[in-house]
Amino acid sequence: MNSKALYKLSYGLYVVGSYKGNKINAQIANTVIQITSEPATIAVSINKKNLTHEYIQASGVFTASIITNEAPLSFIGQFGFKSGRDTDKLAGVNYKKGATGAPVVLDNCNAYLEAKVLQSVDAGTHSIFIGQLVEGDVLNELTSMTYEYYQQVKRGFTPKSAPSYQEAKPAQPQTASPIIPKYKCGVCGYIYDPAVGDIDNGIKAGTPFEANKADWSCPVCGADKSQFRKLE
Ligand code: FE
Repeated sequence: MNSKALYKLSYGLYVVGSYKGNKINAQIANTVIQITSEPATIAVSINKKNLTHEYIQASGVFTASIITNEAPLSFIGQFGFKSGRDTDKLAGVNYKKGATGAPVVLDNCNAYLEAKVLQSVDAGTHSIFIGQLVEGDVLNELTSMTYEYYQQVKRGFTPKSAPSYQEAKPAQPQTASPIIPKYKCGVCGYIYDPAVGDIDNGIKAGTPFEANKADWSCPVCGADKSQFRKLE
């Protein structure tokens, strides 16, 4: 079996939120899908180890806020590479309490859906929660981010020959030489490419990794410089 066939599936990217008692949490998921339209139902697959899983089981509701291409890496990293057990993942994020009581994220999203769980399916490491839509709205007309766009453009994995490569970069002269090494985050796998820089944090294209300040951190997960390893 060639498991790379799975990489050809296409996905979106979502902030899935829920609550338990007076606590709220949210995480990144790429597995929100519509199941039926009459009545409208959606499903999401959530890892059983995640705090959001515990909250969805407790409250029986979840929200899915749909992320747009404009979302910075730090926004995705805040929800995707940190646990709500250690940090308030919604700190500094513009959100509202939805009709279900679960958080709806308003920053960097173009729409949201709120669902009441009808059924959960035990899928080994994950549970699949199937929910009936109880609320939802469109926030703006920006383009929804696909998982592929996130991996290839946002995280810098796009080969320079790809048509999408240019749109991730501002119009700046290519000053980086190919011999300037890339560095990889040991926590989340983000690759710092000096030819791209770190636009979200004001690091211009052409800046070698070594030239970044000591307090510079991974734009995805927040790991410090020492967590990075040079790619040969
Ligand atoms: Fe990282």
